[in-house]
Amino acid sequence: MRILDDAAVGPFERVVHAVDEASGLRAVVAVHSTSPGPAVGGTRFHPYASDACATIDALRLAEGMTLKAAAAGLPVGGGKAVIAGDPERLRSADLWRAYAGVLELFGGAYYTAEDVGTTVADMAALRRHTPYVLGVPDGSAGWDGDPSPLTARGVVAALRAAWEADTGAGSLEGARAVVQGVGKVGATVAGMLAAEGVRLWVSDAQPERAEAAAAWTGAAVVAPDGALGQPCEFLVPCAIGGVLRREVVPALGCRWVVGAANNQLSDDSVAVRLAERGIGYVPDFVANAGGLIAVAEQLNGWCAERVRDRVDGIGDVVRELIGEAWASGETTLDAALRRARARLVTAR
Ligand code: NAD
Repeated sequence: MRILDDAAVGPFERVVHAVDEASGLRAVVAVHSTSPGPAVGGTRFHPYASDACATIDALRLAEGMTLKAAAAGLPVGGGKAVIAGDPERLRSADLWRAYAGVLELFGGAYYTAEDVGTTVADMAALRRHTPYVLGVPDGSAGWDGDPSPLTARGVVAALRAAWEADTGAGSLEGARAVVQGVGKVGATVAGMLAAEGVRLWVSDAQPERAEAAAAWTGAAVVAPDGALGQPCEFLVPCAIGGVLRREVVPALGCRWVVGAANNQLSDDSVAVRLAERGIGYVPDFVANAGGLIAVAEQLNGWCAERVRDRVDGIGDVVRELIGEAWASGETTLDAALRRARARLVTAR
């Protein structure tokens, strides 16, 4: 394994570029902040178009993890790692061994977990070579290491809080929701909403996934290009980032946007456009913090009841942010950013 670069970069405390020719590993690990505690963030395994694209993604995602942890009040900082390449072709015991060597350089300042392109099984393989891995199965605590169900639980807590703030209703029964992307998180969200009496539409770029989710939740299927315009109370983005661009805002059919996907807004100005159209927005890094809460718990010993309480606490955060935004006239995104940055200043 060779370290190509290891330096502080702008606001990032440490950015390491590493390669291992033998296993095909090309990794970037970015630690944005360790002020509140060790940096936590997953490892994304993706065939980036270039090394520069991989670096940019690692930096952007690492900074996002700092905000997510701070908004949730967690005693951890933000970091992220990316491995460039096709996970299906490159995944091997040798690659995880080489990558563990990169994580060891941080000596506990950065803990990784699963992310897009990596699995709980990958994290278990990595954990054989380094302790700096979270989201691994813990038989004695009764956790399989998968953060997705807890991310889904947090998203539903955020929906309930938004609905309560809006209508005073204590339950989501009778509301209409469109779940965009029914993968690990979205399918669980759809199941939870169906169980709560929500009238559902599901949509997925892979039609067989949408059909499967519809079959077991009783939802209707909406084609991917119709999901944003479908009239509903909640659009629940659980697919990819960047789905909300300025030009699509006029065509949205929802009253609220609350979902799991990271970086849902193509840029922060979209939050203003949403507010101008009277569409409420729960910032993604607030709504989708359940998975981070779950993996960060593993630093101190995992307790299912405590994790569930903390994830449900996302609802309290959402209620407070909506109250602050409505009282001050700012967007919920501005209120959430202000809260997160204030927490970071205190941590420093
Ligand atoms: P996943 O890959 O299991 O599911 C994503 C689904 O979205 C897939 O079924 C895919 O076919 C579908 N999809 C992709 N593009 C689409 C499009 N344009 N329209 C409709 N469907 C589309 O991923 P996941 O783990 O469920 O995560 C979903 C989102 O939530 C991602 O953005 C992820 O970064 C974010 N997130 C996940 C977690 C977690 O715990 N898994 C935590 C925080 C944030």
